[in-house]
Amino acid sequence: MSDYQQKVSGTFNERMKLIRLRRKKENLRFWDEFRIVPRWLVWTVVLLFLIAQGVGIFVNHWYLQHNLPLFNHDISEYPILQGLALAGVITAISAFLASFIFMIGYVNRDAKRRGMNSALWTLLVTILLPAWTFLGFLIYFLMREPLPYPCPQCAKPVGARFNFCPNCKCNLHPSCPNCKREVVETDKFCPYCGSDLKLSPTAEIASESV
Ligand SMILES: [Zn+2]
Ligand SMILES: [Zn+2]
Repeated sequence: MSDYQQKVSGTFNERMKLIRLRRKKENLRFWDEFRIVPRWLVWTVVLLFLIAQGVGIFVNHWYLQHNLPLFNHDISEYPILQGLALAGVITAISAFLASFIFMIGYVNRDAKRRGMNSALWTLLVTILLPAWTFLGFLIYFLMREPLPYPCPQCAKPVGARFNFCPNCKCNLHPSCPNCKREVVETDKFCPYCGSDLKLSPTAEIASESV
């Protein structure tokens, strides 16, 4: 394998490792995540939605006064129904646009929280939005760094790329001394081969905390 290939597969493996770690450590809930979207952005979107509805009522009124069909002649004979139909269309379009705006706001804050280049990622998802819609977000969700998590021993936040806690030297990626597969810090026995992890020196530090 050439040096270049080795490097690419190396970063790929590291990326996969980070994705696995994120799956294991992060249990994100939709509403908790939604809360990191800036307040002012949420209120701006709500305000724009109300303005759009106001314009809708005005347009409906104008069409009725001038006896013009807004959708078609059948529905324009029922002004309330036509008004509701227009409000429905405005709501659907607004929900569609709002979901994109909130996602951009989310990426902006989430990237900052994960120590990534927030401005660059916000720009990327925004640029890809018109032509590729969700592609930018897809790339972001695959590439984002895991959140720092509390050390299992001393509870100080540790980075996802750390192998040892800088505060207490806890082994953050302990492996089974028998089969060499990765185990969780709190495991007493290896889930793959059943070795007693308390007897092994690699898991020694972890077992002290239990
Ligand atoms: Zn620690
Ligand atoms: Zn094992």
